[in-house]
Amino acid sequence: MKALEQPGPKLHFAPLPAAQLEKLGVGVQNRFDLLLECRKCGEQWSPQYNADGTLPRGYWMCPNRCNW
Ligand SMILES: [Zn+2]
Repeated sequence: MKALEQPGPKLHFAPLPAAQLEKLGVGVQNRFDLLLECRKCGEQWSPQYNADGTLPRGYWMCPNRCNW
């Protein structure tokens, strides 16, 4: 068994590709809290980073399916 790694400042989080998100109709409200907003319906949601600091698959998808 491997000891749990301590989360430290070395952990890299994937940057939000804001320009790419705009094309999908998604605005970035807060890139630190990862708060996204749908340009179409105004829904806001905040996806969670994966444990390794990458963005989850489909994190940009509006909960109301505007851009699916
Ligand atoms: Zn929407």
